[in-house]
Amino acid sequence: MLDPAVLKELKRILGADGVSTTPEELVAYSYDATQREALPWAVARPQTVAQVSQVLAFANRERFPVVPRGAGTGMSGGSVPTQGGVVLSFERMNRILEIDEENMIAVAEPGVVTGDLQREVESRGLFYPPDPASHRFCTLGGNVAECAGGLRAVKYGVTKDYVLGLEVVLPTGEIITTGARTAKSVAGYDLTKLIVGSEGTLGVVTKIIVKLLPLPESVLTLSAFFRSVDDAARAASKVLASRIIPRALELIDQAALRAVENYLKEDLSQGAAAMLIVEVDGPAETTERESARVADILTKAGATRVQSADAGPEREQLWKARRSISPALYTIKPKKINEDIVVPRSRIADILREINDIAKHYDLLIVNFGHAGDGNIHTNIMLDDVDLPKAGEAVKKIFAAVLRLGGSITGEHGIGISKAPYLPMELSPDALSAMKRIKQALDPNNILNPGKIFLNAE
Ligand SMILES: Cc1cc2nc3c(=O)[nH]c(=O)nc-3n(C[C@H](O)[C@H](O)[C@H](O)COP(=O)(O)OP(=O)(O)OC[C@H]3O[C@@H](n4cnc5c(N)ncnc54)[C@H](O)[C@@H]3O)c2cc1C
Repeated sequence: MLDPAVLKELKRILGADGVSTTPEELVAYSYDATQREALPWAVARPQTVAQVSQVLAFANRERFPVVPRGAGTGMSGGSVPTQGGVVLSFERMNRILEIDEENMIAVAEPGVVTGDLQREVESRGLFYPPDPASHRFCTLGGNVAECAGGLRAVKYGVTKDYVLGLEVVLPTGEIITTGARTAKSVAGYDLTKLIVGSEGTLGVVTKIIVKLLPLPESVLTLSAFFRSVDDAARAASKVLASRIIPRALELIDQAALRAVENYLKEDLSQGAAAMLIVEVDGPAETTERESARVADILTKAGATRVQSADAGPEREQLWKARRSISPALYTIKPKKINEDIVVPRSRIADILREINDIAKHYDLLIVNFGHAGDGNIHTNIMLDDVDLPKAGEAVKKIFAAVLRLGGSITGEHGIGISKAPYLPMELSPDALSAMKRIKQALDPNNILNPGKIFLNAE
């Protein structure tokens, strides 16, 4: 419950229009894409780093939870205020502050929508590669906190590969800067890398410096259809082993294909059992040559049909279908547990076979799609409420198989609350203890996003 004195102080710091407590707004900030929900006591919308610092210093003094929030598209419950407290939302800190074309960097506030930064830099012939499928609505602050990956990670890497420096407010209120605006810097510990991927538990990001690349001259996209998901997975491994690095290599299984076709009212696959989308980029002559080689590899690996998509609406349509899978799955069942396991690229076919066996064993529908080029598969267990207990057991079995194959339980969505019970399956007690000691050093009163990553902070 929100103490009236706390509300008064929040309004003093943020102005009356910077704080909301109406039931409608509390509900709007109570959930993310996991469908888990918990009401905050209030929503705070800072406009400056000084306000963020004052809110955190105050929360640390009064010992109430603060939960940073971008667009709430997270897939692990990171922005859900499970212990109440104040949600710190960055919708009023949403400016691109600078695009330095000479040094190829951009500086932005955390509330900037990722797709807006991409569009803005591309209009100047520059390129910000991290490309989560949610890019039209997720924010850079959320991307930094989760170390978001996305469709182009197979060639260009993930958010941590682009963040050069940050402005961060520590849970005790101090404002620090990390990293530099330069291509290199090794001054002290790399606090930038510590904060990237820390899921809003170690500090609140208020400014982000990212490096940019030249915009690739041309892009070519292929779609390929297969008689089985096993064929598609083996074809993906063959493309990767060919020494061509596509900028995207996405796999979509049969159930995901049918769901998206129903959702978009479109026949993409003519009944195929799996689909790959492969995209190459670079100088025009290179993309022509590489896409011809990829088409050949896919055909030899058993593709029943390989098509190239023109640069315009056809390519857009293909990616729209891919980006629609997550919402489309809700047309199959009302609920889903979404995991984002990652295995070595050569083991994709193996993990898909194991998941299929687990699905059969528990009589569950498990839908797989995602970033096959990274070995990162979005495994969705489709549910009615009655399926929940056996789904929990299936998740454990899937994670055990992933770890046996040398993988990790999360490639890009983070631990949050949904994977916290399973983190000890992957990390040793000593590694967990080292992480908790870092948390305690920076957040001695456990006020910043408590209850996330670790089941208990001690
Ligand atoms: C349809 C769909 C497709 C998706 N595709 C991908 C994908 O391809 N790749 C991928 O990686 N993810 C994907 N996601 C997941 C999600 O979009 C990403 O995790 C994204 O980075 C979350 O950004 P957000 O702004 O919505 O953050 P939120 O969900 O609001 O928050 C996520 C975490 O970041 C913290 N946080 C937010 N802002 C700050 C800040 N300023 N300082 C400190 N901590 C902060 C929150 O506390 C929380 O822990 C997808 C989600 C959906 C719904």
